[in-house]
Amino acid sequence: MLPHQSPATERRRSTKIVATLGPASSDPAVLERMIRAGVDVVRMNFSHGSPDDHRARAALVRELCRKTGRTVGIMADLQGPKIRVGKFKDGRVTLKPGDAFILDAACTLGDPSRVGLDYKELPQDVRAGDVLLLDDGKIVFDVERVAGSEIHSRVRHGGVLSNNKGINRLGGGLTAPALTAKDMEDVRLAADITADYLAVSFPKSGKDMYMARELLRAAGGKAFLIAKIERAEAVEREAFEDILAACDGIMVARGDLAVEVGDASVPALQKRMIHVAREHNRLTITATQMMESMIASPVPTRAEVSDVANAVLDGTDAVMLSAETAAGQYPVETIEAMSRICVEAEKSSPVHLDREFLDRVFTRIDQSIAMAALFTAYHLKVKAIAALTESGSTALWMSRLNCGVPIYALTSQTSTRYRVSLFRDVQPITVSYQGHDRDALLEEAEAVLVKNGLVAQGDLIVVSFGEPIGASGGTNTMKIVRVGEHRRA
Ligand code: PEP
Repeated sequence: MLPHQSPATERRRSTKIVATLGPASSDPAVLERMIRAGVDVVRMNFSHGSPDDHRARAALVRELCRKTGRTVGIMADLQGPKIRVGKFKDGRVTLKPGDAFILDAACTLGDPSRVGLDYKELPQDVRAGDVLLLDDGKIVFDVERVAGSEIHSRVRHGGVLSNNKGINRLGGGLTAPALTAKDMEDVRLAADITADYLAVSFPKSGKDMYMARELLRAAGGKAFLIAKIERAEAVEREAFEDILAACDGIMVARGDLAVEVGDASVPALQKRMIHVAREHNRLTITATQMMESMIASPVPTRAEVSDVANAVLDGTDAVMLSAETAAGQYPVETIEAMSRICVEAEKSSPVHLDREFLDRVFTRIDQSIAMAALFTAYHLKVKAIAALTESGSTALWMSRLNCGVPIYALTSQTSTRYRVSLFRDVQPITVSYQGHDRDALLEEAEAVLVKNGLVAQGDLIVVSFGEPIGASGGTNTMKIVRVGEHRRA
């Protein structure tokens, strides 16, 4: 490990906050307060709401960005093949341990002895001895036998089972395809609302991600793809690396994942997945129940504070809120609390470029420049890294290692500005220069950083850019600049 170096700049929040939208955040005034409180990306959960709801919300988010001057990305989250029970005559039944109960693909309306299934193939996927977890594992069935469309089960842990609750098999292995017909429609919707991120639920392999990407590109969408890791199969080393190769980032979707692999396995998996994803230059989001008690309470529990802080220390790009901001009573307070916890945890995040970094081989020119900028910034204790970027990829590479220096992604591309909203340590800034003069471009970059109070005259900064200016092509130049020093010969 190279010697520790403290951050050269005053601390801003580096970890990003993703907030799920729902009834609690539909009021424009509330959403504006959430955005001002620090939301970086909003998540539209396509499991709920109509296409028109999502279109209206996306338009409102973009409008509030213009009003507040903040850059908030939009993530569309596909429902995926969540396997659910059907409906009951009375809306629900109460199950006691030892009761016999049938999951029946042919049943249309449930009663205390049986209920239907939305995924009709489920009886072909399970066998005697399997354990089924319903309603996120609150109710547990032991499968005794399968006969035709019927899964005969014995209730191990009982409770109230109501309409449309989810079903998982302990250990995973259900064959439902990752993209349903509804998802395929929703991919088009994501393209339509120019989502910056598209989250794919329940992928089992890279193939699922490639298919989603193809559908999205065919619909004209340019979103980055996030693979939600929530199946037992997806955490197996080979499958995980296959998924990583096919996506731009992952979500550690702890809700469903805990049901499939057992809750106690999730913390170690979270750490490993974040570490490996960053090594592969992929983004990471840590999700589910992070501030759960704040659905109904204005303050988090001590355990929630630790959970958020630990995700920050694990190196996650973003922490995510679900019901807390979609349906909770304190959406704004939750974001404020989460932001405060992130900032405090970041103060003790390890700042170092490890030995492995020195051994890495870079074959791309732009990636080599990004790494050189990072290395230089770390050693020279510069005030900031300014990455002049069209696509955001140099900023992404720079942000995979924590060198303690803020990274500003300076771009004229609106889509890139929104996209980098999820990258840890990276803040998007708009530059408008369109000419071919390098000095004029660098002057604008400096001026915009000074105007935003991010650097001052005399500060040392590292700038990366591509020459010739204005021609398409990647980053190939790094320059160490003292702000305000005249550059022209
Ligand atoms: C999860 O299971 O943790 C998750 C984020 O998925 P969902 O879309 O079901 O909230």
